[in-house]
Amino acid sequence: MALFSRLQYEKSVHDLSELPTSRQEIAFAGRSNAGKSSAINTLAGRKTAFVSKIPGRTQLINFFRIEEGQYLVDLPGYGYARVPEAVRRHWQATLARYLETRASLVGLVLIMDARHPLTPLDRQMIAWFAPSGRPIHCLLTKADKLSRGQATRTLHKVWQELAAQGPAFSVQLFSSLKKQGVAEAEAVLAGWLGR
Ligand code: GDP
Repeated sequence: MALFSRLQYEKSVHDLSELPTSRQEIAFAGRSNAGKSSAINTLAGRKTAFVSKIPGRTQLINFFRIEEGQYLVDLPGYGYARVPEAVRRHWQATLARYLETRASLVGLVLIMDARHPLTPLDRQMIAWFAPSGRPIHCLLTKADKLSRGQATRTLHKVWQELAAQGPAFSVQLFSSLKKQGVAEAEAVLAGWLGR
């Protein structure tokens, strides 16, 4: 059975004090509009996200149950330009604290548009989480928008830069539109969960 086929929405939290108890968590982070919701739905094999997406307003951390004690955590998209400064600061501090301190977080999936990988905010997420020593898997989404040659070059470039930072990094091409890269992503995440 596919890794996330039983994925079920459980709760949304606004503040780190409301986080549920968990044994293992995999967090998904990415710039707003990078394709994070689509990627989660593609991995689940159906539409799971129900929270309406109004950037800057409905910024919640969404918990989806994978199995007992295991969660997929959908973090609020970052980088949306029209968010008030105070809201942006609050969410950046929340993301930093979550990535730096969440003990049950076994790995981070970083969603990046294959046409614009490794923006300054993506690098910020890496800087917050990498010191934990836990793995970061990058999905270069919307790969269908690039030619095969462009996609290969982008993959190689991102891989070269991240691999130089240590063995905890991996990267792949992904397309929710073409269902490309699903098995590859599942294999990595299943490994994190000890499956
Ligand atoms: P999020 O804000 O990161 O959750 O992004 P969404 O998943 O809502 O996607 C943002 C936009 O990109 C939507 O219009 C999607 O239809 C589109 N999109 C997402 N993934 C893909 C993909 O793999 N290929 C293409 N061509 N478009 C995509």
